[in-house]
Amino acid sequence: MISAFENSLIIVISLLLGQLVVKKFKNRKVSQTPDHLKPNEIILTFSTLIINILITMAGWILWKEGFISIYATSNFWIVLLDTFVLFCTMDIMMYVLHRMAHIKLLYPILHKTHHQYVRVRPITLFVLNPLETMSFGSLWLILIYFYSASAIAISIYLVLNIIFGIVGHLGVEPVSKKIALLPIINLITTSTFHAQHHQMPEQNFGFYTTIWDKLFKSLSPYYHSHFGKMVD
Ligand SMILES: [Zn+2]
Ligand SMILES: [Zn+2]
Repeated sequence: MISAFENSLIIVISLLLGQLVVKKFKNRKVSQTPDHLKPNEIILTFSTLIINILITMAGWILWKEGFISIYATSNFWIVLLDTFVLFCTMDIMMYVLHRMAHIKLLYPILHKTHHQYVRVRPITLFVLNPLETMSFGSLWLILIYFYSASAIAISIYLVLNIIFGIVGHLGVEPVSKKIALLPIINLITTSTFHAQHHQMPEQNFGFYTTIWDKLFKSLSPYYHSHFGKMVD
């Protein structure tokens, strides 16, 4: 019950905040204006919600049964280290999973649904094939099964995950090119980065960082030249 309420609240709040940002930066489009919301998008968002509730419940049961251990600490350095480990490990694992989801064999059953939406908007984040939502959720449970993290770090990571997800599907770019492309800062993904993935699915596979795309040469050649702009 709590997990249903919590997951619903996360989706509603993130969509509302996302829409506010879209409105504020409506003149900085990085994706064409989407069509009217279709029933399919709402149905798939609900299915994502249900699967996220089930994943949360599975995590809770695994914790209750002692398979997952979460500890309580407010020590700044421990929380920072745990958050860093969760963030970086999920970043590399999701890059690999995302590249695999683009393989011919897996694409239709896992990822094609999400890519039907070239013109992104915040709700597109949740418009996923249920199997894809399940694989991301399982990856997360596997990580916290092997890595015992502090409760605060887990909460921070989950907030960061939703922020990155919504930012990637804004369809507008709130950050200026000057700031986003500064050294170090340019290792963080942006709205432009994921909008370009929806337009050119063979580039920009990263979730939180651009590191793996740079390393494996899958960064869009238009990322810098068309930052904050639409690729014609
Ligand atoms: Zn997307
Ligand atoms: Zn993709």
